[in-house]
Amino acid sequence: TQFTDFGLAAPILKALAQAGYVTPTPIQAQAIPPAMQGKDLCGIAQTGTGKTASFALPILHRLASETSGKPAPRRGCRVLVLAPTRELASQIADSFKEYGQFLKLTTTVVFGGVTIGRQERALANGVDVLVATPGRLLDLIDRRSLTLDGVEYLVLDEADQMLDLGFIHALKRIVKLLPAQRQSLFFSATMPKNIAGLADQYLKNPVQVAV
Ligand code: AMP
Repeated sequence: TQFTDFGLAAPILKALAQAGYVTPTPIQAQAIPPAMQGKDLCGIAQTGTGKTASFALPILHRLASETSGKPAPRRGCRVLVLAPTRELASQIADSFKEYGQFLKLTTTVVFGGVTIGRQERALANGVDVLVATPGRLLDLIDRRSLTLDGVEYLVLDEADQMLDLGFIHALKRIVKLLPAQRQSLFFSATMPKNIAGLADQYLKNPVQVAV
């Protein structure tokens, strides 16, 4: 399989060609086709396996394929990606920007430990893709600077890390605020019982992928 076999939108293929990607990694080969069809996904994969592209590319494809792109909701987002650390969140946002550079989409990253004002201003008109750490996301919601009513796609990356870092209550609060009708993609390096239980709760008939 090559990236050109998936039927990804042309602007995405152009970005991949520019990045020098030719052959999908195993997690990408398994995850991209069902996710492009709109299915929920439960993936076991570590960093370095190419898992970021395995969720970013199908989501970008679905946003790109709409005949009339919906506007990003005011103070909201269409895609919400949750990550445990600011480093990972920043890397994910950079990947969405790179793969989506030929699409007219906005991507913003928010995390704690920095002043909130600039993040609030960045969200005021809404963004297509928001990558966030859970604590700062809740701060923004509590300050009425962000709503999750318009979320169409949810990604939970490194779910096991998120629980290890004590984000379980934040995570549960966030997921309660999301529309029930959405596509959800769930990734974890390990799948112990508590993580599998969480995946069960948040996903609908997920396709299981593992590398
Ligand atoms: P990740 O596991 O998502 O953090 O990706 C690990 C690294 O591999 C990143 O630097 C990506 O840019 C790169 N990468 C991901 N998928 C591919 C691919 N199919 N071909 C070449 N490089 C890739």
